[in-house]
Amino acid sequence: MKQIHMALSRKIFHSKSVHMNNVCQLLTGAISQDKRNAKFVANCYIYINCYITPVLFNIYTHDLPKTTSKKYAYADDIALLHTHKNVSEVEKTLTQDLHHLAKYFTQWRLRMNVTKTVCSLFHLKNRLANYELQVQLNGSRIGAVKTPKYLGVSLDRSLTYGPHLKATAAKVSARNSLLRRLAGSRWGADFAVLRTSALALCHSCAEYCSPVWLQSAHCKRIDVELNDTMRLISGCIRATPTDILPVLSGIQPPDIRRQKQTMRLHQRSANEQHLLHRKMADTTLRQRRLKSRNPLTNRRHGPPPETDADDWATEMWKQRWTATSHSLKKFITEPTPSPPGSDLPRREWVLLNRLRSGYGRFAAFMHKIGLADSDICTCGHPQTGAHVLECDDIGVQGDMMTVDRELRHWLNRTDFSV
Ligand SMILES: [Zn+2]
Repeated sequence: MKQIHMALSRKIFHSKSVHMNNVCQLLTGAISQDKRNAKFVANCYIYINCYITPVLFNIYTHDLPKTTSKKYAYADDIALLHTHKNVSEVEKTLTQDLHHLAKYFTQWRLRMNVTKTVCSLFHLKNRLANYELQVQLNGSRIGAVKTPKYLGVSLDRSLTYGPHLKATAAKVSARNSLLRRLAGSRWGADFAVLRTSALALCHSCAEYCSPVWLQSAHCKRIDVELNDTMRLISGCIRATPTDILPVLSGIQPPDIRRQKQTMRLHQRSANEQHLLHRKMADTTLRQRRLKSRNPLTNRRHGPPPETDADDWATEMWKQRWTATSHSLKKFITEPTPSPPGSDLPRREWVLLNRLRSGYGRFAAFMHKIGLADSDICTCGHPQTGAHVLECDDIGVQGDMMTVDRELRHWLNRTDFSV
């Protein structure tokens, strides 16, 4: 430990690229904010959990040796990337670079985790699908994996993101099961609690790193699970068309949310200090990539759009809703985060959504799927969603559009359920 401290001091005081002023300010700030860091200076001991440790680690490793392959580092995670038409050339370069790095680590008493070090080959040549990269470190071969995980994203040979989206969909499905515990059709948490829980549990997980895999053909796997999440919030049955689910659950459609995130990232990359700035400014990059491997669409290459990403998403959602021809448009003219009636208790909220969407356990629907002997209402007509709103026997009262007092009173008192 003492030798590491001495090496760190040497790097801080003698390196031209480490600015002493910045280091002093950092240490002063850390001492005043965190008592554990004060102990760090007094006892000359580095704590794992204090936030200054990663900074000191970065200072310690700022003079990593130059390599032919590109280096990408996040905290103590270092990735080497080399591109070449010839696979044996890639293997040779990576082996050489690893050798240089291993030498540096030994010199500065750092230990490379050999069990966690893996290598992968990314290409579109199907005949090489099962080829395993031969990269060596200190004479022993490094394990080749087909779907390495980097910063929480599973990568695959042709960057289709299929394995990543399959795993994410399974994760969202498990979280939907948790959400299901909070809601039934007659009881359960109200709209606000369910919507917030869904955004925090399911959408956050489903949209992780979405600008990377936005164009993947496997996005539908995620959408299927998110539709399930929105069914839970709105209390809609499985037969309900998926394009009305976002409007009833007050959450923008999944693809618009993903594009919004990408737009935000693009706007942030306009800053010259941003990691992606140079990549985004490079107009030839798009031509060198396949469409499915190019995360940002044509519109997003070039100067970033000046409109606010949130405003853009709201406008897109409105336009999409205007273009649909669903009968729900009679009752909800504009999509909002809290649709009319969202403050109702769970049972009444579910009944309202099934009535206005026209999809519920109506006699006609139950008869159609073979769960009822007849599709006839008590009044003698076929009981469809449209009929229930006009049926004298059921007697729906009030305004479905504004969800007025009369309708709220009727929803509270009625025994009718679908
Ligand atoms: Zn009737």
